[in-house]
Amino acid sequence: MSEHQDCKRCRSEKAVLVSRKEPFCPGCFQKFISLKQRKQMMSEQYFQDVFKVMYQDKVKTAEIAEKMNAESRILVPLSFGSSSLVMLDVLNDTLKEQLEVHRGKTGFHVDILICFLGSEDLQNHKDRLQTLMNTRLLETRNCYKTHFVDLESFFSSSKRMRVRLEDSSYIVRKVDGASDATTEPTVKELLSTCVNRSAREDLLNVMKTATIKLFAAQHAYKAILWGHSMTRLADEIMALVVKGRAAQIANTLDNSSFDSEFDGSFKNLHPMRDILLSEIDAYCHISDLASLTYNYAPQRTLLIEEVPDAENSGSKLARNMTINELARQYFDNIEGNYANVISTVVRTGAKLDSPLDALPKMSRCGVCNARLFKDGSKWLRNITVTSSHHVESEEDRELYSAWADSEHGKSRGEYIKLNTEFKEQGEVLPTCYGCLLVLGEVRHKIMCWPDNQSRILQDTMEAYVIGDDDESN
Ligand SMILES: [Zn+2]
Ligand SMILES: [Zn+2]
Repeated sequence: MSEHQDCKRCRSEKAVLVSRKEPFCPGCFQKFISLKQRKQMMSEQYFQDVFKVMYQDKVKTAEIAEKMNAESRILVPLSFGSSSLVMLDVLNDTLKEQLEVHRGKTGFHVDILICFLGSEDLQNHKDRLQTLMNTRLLETRNCYKTHFVDLESFFSSSKRMRVRLEDSSYIVRKVDGASDATTEPTVKELLSTCVNRSAREDLLNVMKTATIKLFAAQHAYKAILWGHSMTRLADEIMALVVKGRAAQIANTLDNSSFDSEFDGSFKNLHPMRDILLSEIDAYCHISDLASLTYNYAPQRTLLIEEVPDAENSGSKLARNMTINELARQYFDNIEGNYANVISTVVRTGAKLDSPLDALPKMSRCGVCNARLFKDGSKWLRNITVTSSHHVESEEDRELYSAWADSEHGKSRGEYIKLNTEFKEQGEVLPTCYGCLLVLGEVRHKIMCWPDNQSRILQDTMEAYVIGDDDESN
């Protein structure tokens, strides 16, 4: 290990880490990361208007300038992973500077949104938020509001449907109502019917994203700031391809249009799209944020004079990993020597446009709300053979009836019953290819889901927003 290496930027402090082949002291590295994030925050006029402190000028009166400052509210989903914590820290430094330079004025206000599932999860988030509020965010306390949203609220919409994939035709049909009127499945129950972790993660992700975007649309924020690092975006892009959701890449990375999924008047911004995950993790360590992370241990790969951690080097069993985790592991492994691969993936992804629309009219997926461009069911029907051979001989008949009496055959009976029910009463639900695949990984290929997410009532959502903090007014 290199000893007593000096920081190349200030040439006076001792370097504590090496990033992109350059040695940095803590102060210079924090500045380096901060500048990368702020550059994205100033990337276009819309965001400049959001973040800058406005003053009276040729076109604006003093009142209008004040109003613009007050209405520049942004939503920051905080998961207490390293990325959202660092993003918030940089935002907080920006606020501190503005308060100082503009004598108590700021150009924007931050609403922190924490999504949780279950009381233990809630408590863990609350404890960390309290620590954060009483330490780093103490001086800027008045610029923040915090909201907790129970992910169960995603299900509390008044109207539900049952969605089922018919695997002989790949057609998804829906019938109104939950399974039976007495039991309303919870999000946790739904997730437990997924037969693998990838499907579970995918559905949870659909619910989280929808909840955050609905919250933003209903509360008129100017922007959602997503804490994805460049590495995380690269693995998201690869995972979308593998999960059959490649058509959504362009929309996922779109930072210049207003969000189209939930008729929002907000834009999505990924201000850390130029920063590697290892850099964010290093920032966490040198800024004492590592102790606040939840369900994540920031890596120490860039830090100098670190003895490699033997425990960390052992990787998870590949067969237990979700598609996203596999993609993450791949990019984690290449970050050191092939970081340019990661930026190429993100830059290429950002250049993609939505596919040509091959459908007679504009439609959205009834499950994840993504825009549809192609009939996935039809495409699958064309490339697969799903029907079985007829029962012909006596021997066939005997084997068939033995099978029909077996456990397997009985569940087949249940299957046929569901098929008939959905065929007779069900209505075809347009579904994207990714959701078709997920439904195939759910027990009996059936699940309960909100009927038209964008219509989840505002008041049901409000009822689940707890711990809203109004002291800051
Ligand atoms: Zn330095
Ligand atoms: Zn979908």
